[in-house]
Amino acid sequence: MGAPDKHIRFLSESDYKQATLQIKDASHAQGVYAPRIGIPLVRRHTELEALNSPGITESFGIHEIAHSSHVDAPVRIEQTKTGKWIFKKVKAEATETRSGFLIGLPFGTGPARGRLLEEGYAEYERGLYVQQHDLIGAFTSGAPGYAGAKTSIIPLQYRYKALGEDGEPFLTFGPGAVPAAILETLIKHEPEILPILRESRRGVKGMREFPQRVNSLIPGLYSKLVHMDEGSMAKLLRTTIKQLS
Ligand SMILES: [Zn+2]
Repeated sequence: MGAPDKHIRFLSESDYKQATLQIKDASHAQGVYAPRIGIPLVRRHTELEALNSPGITESFGIHEIAHSSHVDAPVRIEQTKTGKWIFKKVKAEATETRSGFLIGLPFGTGPARGRLLEEGYAEYERGLYVQQHDLIGAFTSGAPGYAGAKTSIIPLQYRYKALGEDGEPFLTFGPGAVPAAILETLIKHEPEILPILRESRRGVKGMREFPQRVNSLIPGLYSKLVHMDEGSMAKLLRTTIKQLS
């Protein structure tokens, strides 16, 4: 068996919709990295590009490719000569699958954990890319660095947002922005955490070291990151900022 094909595919709206028909929650997302498929798929959303910049699609690719930095794919997706997207099983199903920080697939057996930490990691990398390449878009000019989320005041950087069709900024990868802001807070406090975080995607050494470094900053935090849900993550962000300030 060869190595999984992790090359990113940028698809038109219609191709993206067709390719993601069989993937839960993917059809409305900016992109998807389903571990069982093994290929990051990103939709080229022309209206969002016009409102922000073509770089916005690039940044969605960065988010999905970040997910793909740690996984073995048992299923692959391919496009046939007639344009149809098909799924190919390439390996027997494992009892428990790990995709970065996500353990146990949401559509697999058993409850998943680490989903929001995994989303946060991918969104942190996207945000970094957006900031480094100045892809934030005109809507942020003159705006403060932080903005409130819709439902409550959470300090979230504009780099986790894009300008939407209704003229309002929205969180590009939904709840992933909050755990991304937690990781950002940790890395700002201790920059050495970033290379260890990236290393933890690739090997056992990093996988052991990352939780240790996180817990050395705030005892017990790693477990909270793995088990946080959408109801608890905003509070965790606030307490993390408070404890490290
Ligand atoms: Zn994601």
